[in-house]
Amino acid sequence: MVDRRYELAVIGAGPAGLTAATTAAGHGLDVVLLDEQAAPGGQIYRSIEDAPARRAELLGPDYRHGAGLVEAFRTGGAHYCPDTSVWSLGADREIGVLRDGRASLIRAQRIIIAVGAMERPVPFPGWTLPGVMNAGAAQVLFKSSGIAPAQGTVIAGTGPLLLLLAWQYLRAGVPVSAVLEMAAPGHFLRAVPRLPAALLAGHYITRGMKYLWQLRRAGIPVRYGVSGLRALGDGTLDVVEYLRHGRRVRIASDSLLVHFGLVPNMHLAEAAGCRHRWDEGQQCWRPVVDAWGNTSIEGIAVAGDNAAIGGARTAAHAGHLAALEAAHALGRIDARQRDTRGKDDRAWMRADLRIRPFLEALHRLPQSLLATPDDDTVVCRCEEITAGEIRRAVREGHADPNQVKFITRCGMGPCQGQQCVHAVSHIVAAETGQPVAGQIPLRARPPLRPVTIEALAQLEAEAAPT
Ligand SMILES: Cc1cc2nc3c(=O)[nH]c(=O)nc-3n(C[C@H](O)[C@H](O)[C@H](O)COP(=O)(O)OP(=O)(O)OC[C@H]3O[C@@H](n4cnc5c(N)ncnc54)[C@H](O)[C@@H]3O)c2cc1C
Repeated sequence: MVDRRYELAVIGAGPAGLTAATTAAGHGLDVVLLDEQAAPGGQIYRSIEDAPARRAELLGPDYRHGAGLVEAFRTGGAHYCPDTSVWSLGADREIGVLRDGRASLIRAQRIIIAVGAMERPVPFPGWTLPGVMNAGAAQVLFKSSGIAPAQGTVIAGTGPLLLLLAWQYLRAGVPVSAVLEMAAPGHFLRAVPRLPAALLAGHYITRGMKYLWQLRRAGIPVRYGVSGLRALGDGTLDVVEYLRHGRRVRIASDSLLVHFGLVPNMHLAEAAGCRHRWDEGQQCWRPVVDAWGNTSIEGIAVAGDNAAIGGARTAAHAGHLAALEAAHALGRIDARQRDTRGKDDRAWMRADLRIRPFLEALHRLPQSLLATPDDDTVVCRCEEITAGEIRRAVREGHADPNQVKFITRCGMGPCQGQQCVHAVSHIVAAETGQPVAGQIPLRARPPLRPVTIEALAQLEAEAAPT
């Protein structure tokens, strides 16, 4: 049953979705904002409305910036559905939602998908051991409840979040044993030519240097050139092991927080059938969009990190542009008004995105980490499919991720491949010798969030003619 129809449905209440919903409501559109979190803010501004002042202070000024966005949204007139998961999206703009265990369908004339990014899952030996966790997930716990590893932690991987989290922990008095940077060898050299352009968005570099300097001053080792990461332990993490300068190093720890950069949360756009392409710079799949966020499917736009990793400020501007386009498409403003109102966003985004090529080169992941996990390493955590099983399927002639899925069930579990889509692409490419760009990524099939049979049956019953 279609519960309700809206002119615009925005999915995701991060900076992109909040700005899109506020802007569209400001142009008189009937807007609904759907988000599975309990409160607006998305990843970066999570719990911004009720974070105690001390915690907000520890998390830094970037975090506090979100308060204004959320306040504008709260008073902006958009209809807000928190605790609401979107579990399906069709090209006909029918949206399957789940709230309080009840599934329903809504429809909108236009949709802006603003579901952000997720941390790139990278399978490595021991990554499924209790005690190993994503750094972003640990940060979520800290933002929402002030929870941090009691006995200290090792932080490993690559990307700006590594230093940021270590710095936030340092300020909160959480012991950090080491920060292990695992970018591909030669990353500094590759990044240097991109530095002059990056300096035009120099505040990011200054901030990174500040974190690094304060960590070093506090005596926290920040190690570059790390590879061969392994999490070891009998049932739970005891030791973090890595290679550096040809030497194997071991650190006793019951907590390892890993982060290998962000990848767009592509599943809703994929489920709707939007065209995707491989982005070699960001080493990920992303939807093909035009300058207003329009995808290959009429009436469906994508904004924010969900379209390409650009950070929170760029996400907010992209949300503004997508909302202007919706207001234009629905007859509230003409093309000239849309273009004029979007001018500042474009200028802002151009300036802000100057840092990206530098960051992409600096934090580029080595192929050895992406494509060659040991045969025993689990790649699909839902169905417990190992790298060896994927390779065997490829050697048997299934040289495409979706064939591998069909044969092994990899990507068919509750997450519907969200966790393993990139790893499978890399392994298949390495095994076949063909570039990832030529593949079709694992297809997303609803339900994209677990939905009970009971909820689906009720949906059917409600839809049946009486
Ligand atoms: C774990 C993590 C931590 C991060 N921490 C930082 C940080 O400290 N500093 C920083 O500068 N950047 C950080 N980033 C990057 C930053 O979050 C993004 O650049 C920015 O938030 C992008 O904004 P967005 O609006 O595109 O998406 P997001 O802020 O990610 O918002 C997306 C929203 O979509 C919702 N959503 C997703 N799927 C569904 C669904 N199926 N149904 C309903 N709702 C859904 C989510 O609940 C979320 O609220 C982090 C990213 C991640 C993944």
